[in-house]
Amino acid sequence: MNRQKIQKKRAVREAMPCQPPLVRRANFDEVALGYTREMALREAARCLHCKKPLCVSGCPVQVPIGDFIAELVKGNLEVAYSIVKSANSLPAVCGRVCPQEHQCEGKCVLGVKGQPVAIGRLERFVADAFLGSAHGCPGQKPVKFGDGKVAMLGAGPASLTCAGICAANGLRVDVFEGLHEPGGVLVYGIPSFRLPKNVVAAEIGDLRTLGVRFHFNCVAGRTVLLEDLRGEYDAVFIGVGAGLPVFLGIPGENLVGVFSANEYLTRVNLGRAYAFPEYDTPVYPGKNVTVFGAGNVAMDAARTALRLGAESVHIVYRRTRAEMPAREEEIKHAEEEGVRFSMLAAPIQFNADADMRLCSVTLQGMRLGEPDASGRRSPVPVEGQLRVLPTDLAVVALGTRANPILLDATPGLERTERGYIRADKNTGETSLPNVFAGGDIVTGAATVILAMGAGRAAGQEICRRFAKQGG
Ligand SMILES: Cc1cc2nc3c(=O)[nH]c(=O)nc-3n(C[C@H](O)[C@H](O)[C@H](O)COP(=O)(O)OP(=O)(O)OC[C@H]3O[C@@H](n4cnc5c(N)ncnc54)[C@H](O)[C@@H]3O)c2cc1C
Ligand code: SF4
Repeated sequence: MNRQKIQKKRAVREAMPCQPPLVRRANFDEVALGYTREMALREAARCLHCKKPLCVSGCPVQVPIGDFIAELVKGNLEVAYSIVKSANSLPAVCGRVCPQEHQCEGKCVLGVKGQPVAIGRLERFVADAFLGSAHGCPGQKPVKFGDGKVAMLGAGPASLTCAGICAANGLRVDVFEGLHEPGGVLVYGIPSFRLPKNVVAAEIGDLRTLGVRFHFNCVAGRTVLLEDLRGEYDAVFIGVGAGLPVFLGIPGENLVGVFSANEYLTRVNLGRAYAFPEYDTPVYPGKNVTVFGAGNVAMDAARTALRLGAESVHIVYRRTRAEMPAREEEIKHAEEEGVRFSMLAAPIQFNADADMRLCSVTLQGMRLGEPDASGRRSPVPVEGQLRVLPTDLAVVALGTRANPILLDATPGLERTERGYIRADKNTGETSLPNVFAGGDIVTGAATVILAMGAGRAAGQEICRRFAKQGG
């Protein structure tokens, strides 16, 4: 790319308007308010429309980024939306939660001399313009179904993407979901202040328009068996995620007041515990909350606790800020809202009051040693450096593993050494013919867009095999 051309463009991107920190820490409304039309047009005008757009190579579902931005610049919003939607069935979701800084925006040439084009924010702007409108999904009409039938297990982003591709190609799609709502982590994990529920519901609504059928409260491996579904359907896609929480394994972890992030966030997000008693699910109220971990899940739990009225919220992490895996934006938002960070500390014991409720946690001081297998410097305990942090609610956000319910009930389904499903890198096919898998259940906890990329690859392969019999 011509250096002068890059320099001529504004180096700085259009800022995202947000709710002020002191206002938003007391509500569950969306923090980032989205670009206005003028802002979106100004930001879109920064794009160079590169002949070989590097940004696209950073996108796991290959959205034609330069093309949709070019249409946006011309004011052709509907065409821009059709282009985005042709590659990404959940653009309003991805525009909000994808780690673009490591994907498309990480590759944008403008990033060499200044800030990359705010691709995610533009994707969100374009998608929001059609959200929930009768317009729904330009270019995607309900199709005529043929004889092919596919079952999806789980209704997270991997399955939803696979379902969309199969249905658009004339395959009958039935989705079997263990919970009572579709969306997976998009509804039970990521809080509404980052991803409003109506945004997820509207994009899933487009799948219903395509004729996808949902069956809720249906746990694969219990309510339905994979073997039975294989007899009934041409292909099965497994997208059940990796929702089994990892615990610390330290004394006191069973005390009242110690939660996994999974349970805490599910109660609040899916169960709407913040609106108890209007909704049935209560949540344990914490005054002094401590969250263990430093990924997006930890940030979400900490910021949720603030919104539920906690007086103080600490994130405790055994490494330093430089090693924190959460998105920079999430860390910044948490800091602005008043979350405090205790670095180089690890919990070694939860302590109880006379009623056996959590009252404090004992922390071990750490220092950074040699790099471990992940390349990050490993934390090493510093002898004699102990302190006690008063806390009445602890949330453990150390990651998740594969839930064994479906895997244990399905003989012949090969697993990796880490306990996830072994699947072909290109097609997602498992050790069982015409049974595909993708998303966190194959990779371990990852990202929305990687799960969607896997769902798309499997969907394309399923269509190649079975859609020709269809409409
Ligand atoms: C709190 C939190 C915040 C996150 N933030 C981000 C973020 O900002 N950006 C990002 O890119 N990623 C984020 N992630 C990760 C991302 O959400 C996941 O990588 C992604 O959702 C994985 O998609 P999936 O379809 O594989 O699984 P999931 O989203 O986990 O969906 C799996 C679905 O299968 C259902 N299910 C499970 N077992 C069964 C069964 N036996 N039978 C039937 N149904 C079953 C589950 O109920 C669920 O609905 C976050 C994760 C969490 C937990
Ligand atoms: S977003 Fe960046 S890399 Fe992509 S076409 Fe525009 S300027 Fe080029």
